[in-house]
Amino acid sequence: MKKALITGITGQDGSYLAELLLEKGYKVYGMRRRTSTPNYENIANVREKIEWLSGDLTDLSSLISAVQQSDPDEVYNLAAQSFVETSWPQPNLTGQITALGVTNLLEAVRIVKPSAKFYQASSSEMYGKVMETPQRETTPFYPRSPYGVSKVYGHWITLNYRESFNMFACSGILFNHESPRRGIEFVTRKVTDGVARIKLGMKQKLTMGNLDAKRDWGFAGDYVKAMWLMLQQEEPDDFVISTGETRTVRQLLEVAFQSVELRYEDYVVIDPKLFRPAEVDLLLGDCGKAKRQLGWKPEVSFEDMIAMMVENDLHKVERELNH
Ligand code: GDP
Repeated sequence: MKKALITGITGQDGSYLAELLLEKGYKVYGMRRRTSTPNYENIANVREKIEWLSGDLTDLSSLISAVQQSDPDEVYNLAAQSFVETSWPQPNLTGQITALGVTNLLEAVRIVKPSAKFYQASSSEMYGKVMETPQRETTPFYPRSPYGVSKVYGHWITLNYRESFNMFACSGILFNHESPRRGIEFVTRKVTDGVARIKLGMKQKLTMGNLDAKRDWGFAGDYVKAMWLMLQQEEPDDFVISTGETRTVRQLLEVAFQSVELRYEDYVVIDPKLFRPAEVDLLLGDCGKAKRQLGWKPEVSFEDMIAMMVENDLHKVERELNH
């Protein structure tokens, strides 16, 4: 039985990946941080099937111990301070977790189990002020937030451990990926939750920032399959994972409001406070390499994904109302 260690397992991607690996017959070890109010909402389906370990990316000894206890064949580093906006008010924390945390985990693997395969969750935010369109594996990085800068560090340290120590370390450059499990602060979930509340009469307005930003939005459930495929290859390599389609935040609003037969123009107000100090204007990924080498492709369309998220939020808000 193969064994996998996942950091960030209670997040969106961690929970989908855990479900995928359990289906494939893996023993799954999940690392969690101690918090006073633990949240297992995303991982509820499989919580009992996971071997839980306690640890934190900023604490090397806890990582050494997690790798010792799990003795993993594969390590997936999905933990991070993952919200771009928070990275401005908390730049040091973001760097300690999202950048140096990667070195800590690579060190733990190098010291305890250097033969384990390693997956690093890199991000399209590394492209920032894009140097070419569409963005591919060879496109130079130009990050535009402390989060993006930290992810560039994580990407390069992963490649460096591959080249320095011959470790099987891969970096997946994932473009935005969403689902009903997406954190409420991200724009897709903020919108689908807002649409549900407006539809059910609990809210009159939805306050938004920059509607002109363009993103390449895919479905998280599709994207975790690419993570696994990367670690099944003969040689470690880096891959862009994306849909190859880009849409504005305004188009996202149109699709989400239309799904409950409303017009976004009647509800959305713009608050300049939500504009970012430096914006990533356009992301559009070319996943040709992943298609060719991994045999991966996105399955769920943008419209179906947004409909799924609105539907899920309608049920959630209805349950709230009935309490
Ligand atoms: P990111 O690409 O990792 O920063 O993902 P987000 O979902 O947080 O933001 C995507 C884009 O939506 C960014 O360009 C934001 O500036 C834009 N945006 C516009 N209004 C909002 C908002 O109210 N909340 C968030 N999170 N983003 C917004």
